[in-house]
Amino acid sequence: MTVRLRAHHLLCMLTFIGEGYTPAFSRNYRRIAERLSAGEDIELISGPDDICAPLISETEPHCLRASVEDRDMHAALAVGELFGRKLVPGERIVPDDTFLDDARAAFLAGESRAACAGCEWFGLCTRVAEGGFAGVRVGRPPLGGGRT
Ligand code: SF4
Repeated sequence: MTVRLRAHHLLCMLTFIGEGYTPAFSRNYRRIAERLSAGEDIELISGPDDICAPLISETEPHCLRASVEDRDMHAALAVGELFGRKLVPGERIVPDDTFLDDARAAFLAGESRAACAGCEWFGLCTRVAEGGFAGVRVGRPPLGGGRT
């Protein structure tokens, strides 16, 4: 199985600690985090993805806003830097330890965070990163960190 993700969720998944917009959103996201942690790969897509799914039936879901597409553009550039190439929809990404270590380091250093400008979760994600990514749901727990 493959998890379909839009580009900025390649960043959001790094600091996901189990909570989100609504209970249904969080439940779905936690299942996706388990699948990614179990080794499923990611297909990069444009537009609403598997994480957005519980929100997409809302009236005017924010997942369709131009500002969110802008986030995707910035995130694709930043994560593409990690791979040394431009990321495009259809790309397959394996969220293995190497990818997660590199992505976490870039996130903590602020090198990949142009996509986060104006996001309501900015402070929370910053605290998670500065806390050594303790409690995150995707990937193995970082050294010294554990799942909450
Ligand atoms: S600040 Fe927002 S866009 Fe950036 S990783 Fe956190 S939730 Fe995602």
